[in-house]
Amino acid sequence: MNVLVVNFGSSSLKFQIVDTDRQRMAEDQDLLLAKGQVDRIGGLALVQVSAGGTSVRRVLPIKTPRVALESVLDIVRELLHDTASGQAHAPHAALEHTPSASHLGGLRIDAVGHRVVHGGERFNRSVMIDGEVEQGIADCIELAPLHNPWNLKGIEAVRAIFGEDVPQVAVFDTAFHSTMSEEAFLYAIPYQLYRRHRIRRYGFHGTSHRYVAYRYRRLLGLQREDSHLISLHLGNGCSACAIEAGQSIDTSMGFTPLDGLVMGTRCGDLDPSIVEFLMQKEGYSLAEIDGLLNKQSGLLGLSGLTNDMRELLDEEAENADRRAHLAIEVFCRRVRKQIGAYLAIMKRCDALVFTGGIGAQSSQVRDRILSGLEGLGVVLETTSTPETLSGSLPGESLISATHSPRKVLVVPTNEELLIARDTVRCVNAATSSS
Ligand code: ADP
Repeated sequence: MNVLVVNFGSSSLKFQIVDTDRQRMAEDQDLLLAKGQVDRIGGLALVQVSAGGTSVRRVLPIKTPRVALESVLDIVRELLHDTASGQAHAPHAALEHTPSASHLGGLRIDAVGHRVVHGGERFNRSVMIDGEVEQGIADCIELAPLHNPWNLKGIEAVRAIFGEDVPQVAVFDTAFHSTMSEEAFLYAIPYQLYRRHRIRRYGFHGTSHRYVAYRYRRLLGLQREDSHLISLHLGNGCSACAIEAGQSIDTSMGFTPLDGLVMGTRCGDLDPSIVEFLMQKEGYSLAEIDGLLNKQSGLLGLSGLTNDMRELLDEEAENADRRAHLAIEVFCRRVRKQIGAYLAIMKRCDALVFTGGIGAQSSQVRDRILSGLEGLGVVLETTSTPETLSGSLPGESLISATHSPRKVLVVPTNEELLIARDTVRCVNAATSSS
């Protein structure tokens, strides 16, 4: 089944086309057919697409999510057509020339999976999209005003392009954390505010943490109920998740993705009194403070240079920049504290798993986070190159020493793959029950 996976943001679209079905899932043989993204929707957009062994980058005027999706699909068609006529190298498994698919130049799309940011308390798993589900996503707009409206626009765009017959599935960023207990998700504010407004920890990055937990048990040959780990997603956005028996029992992002770890431009944990203090001292409005904490804080705010960890590491190494160093140290310390906190509440934790752009790619940051944690049973391998586990995918490795009581792994995330697989499962379930 060819699944188009889409992730619409406020001015961006990321997509993949994945060929997957029950058998491919069982054998980890899902095929990535095309991927890409559109940035700056609403103006002159940067469009990047890879398919059939070729990649293109174009700058195009793109006003709406629908035009963004049409543009990338046009380019996919072009690239796959070129492949089929022998102009590119790799032959393409899913190039199907059926008359019904003519509007996509022969690439059949069987279903579409959407990454939806907020499912509130209503959605605890992925679901087929119908009118009621769309209303449910709309009802969560007050919880995610910057994201859910774009997810709804994405759903409309897909319907306009593919018609009503192509099934659409919503995969929620919050759903994996729906297993958290009240003790984990409640903030210590008057309980009636939770009852009245659903103010609580929801957690995000759920699909990424779920993927990490899935790869961990595949790599170690474990059953879900035997997987007890801390997943550390460190990218531009960062969150940690304590996972027991394959289920999220706590996570560091909260009511919004602003909570928890230090991020590229978000502050993470903050004493709420600072908000009022800043309003008084600097005369900021609430909207300005929101912008300050979400867009000008974190690594960027601390360093005064950039939100990009790679650049900070370079600044620190090449120019001994004090603030770059400080930003990295604050970042690492916060992650270390989070690990300690989770070890204290988990009944059992066998592994730490790093993912996200920083987590998966920076051994330097991982080393700095984990140095001195031997007392907590974490010992990194220092003498040899990381061990590759059998059945591992590119980028996956075991980086703890053989005698380390807790294992440490690196697993590059792949949220799109889980979205594609959930889409197939939901569509299959709907077909077999109808
Ligand atoms: P997003 O959360 O937007 O998906 P990513 O997961 O791609 O972001 O992570 C982006 C972050 O990862 C950036 O801070 C980038 O500098 C960092 N990063 C990527 N590769 C490396 C690397 N080799 N070393 C250090 N940091 C890296």
